[in-house]
Amino acid sequence: MGESKSKSLSPRELFIKYAKNGEILLNQCTKCNNIVLETVYYCDKCFAKTFKQMPYKGKGKVVTYTIQSVVPEGFEDANSYAWVIFKLDDCDVNVSGFLPDISSPSDLPIGTKIKVVDFHDNHGLILQKD
Ligand SMILES: [Zn+2]
Repeated sequence: MGESKSKSLSPRELFIKYAKNGEILLNQCTKCNNIVLETVYYCDKCFAKTFKQMPYKGKGKVVTYTIQSVVPEGFEDANSYAWVIFKLDDCDVNVSGFLPDISSPSDLPIGTKIKVVDFHDNHGLILQKD
């Protein structure tokens, strides 16, 4: 009690809150400034465990992806989808997410601009072409 609301959110809840706003919350190592995913517990460069949280725009370009024709639970209205890895525009970090309605590689050339639009509890980040 008495603490601000944001302090009571777990790292995952905070990440989701930002994702729903179209942002990616990342951790920046306080020792070497390396940027890592919020879900990583130590810096992959210097192994320090202290980070500060930095929100970045959830926009980037497709690096690679896999098209799945079996639609996961919660997306029954999508025909097929792509599990996409994309590189953020504002920092050198790759993030993965779910892009509905992609059925063939011609729907999604490498380098396509995409953005984060939502977060799904089971499937993670929800993407949209930008
Ligand atoms: Zn570091």
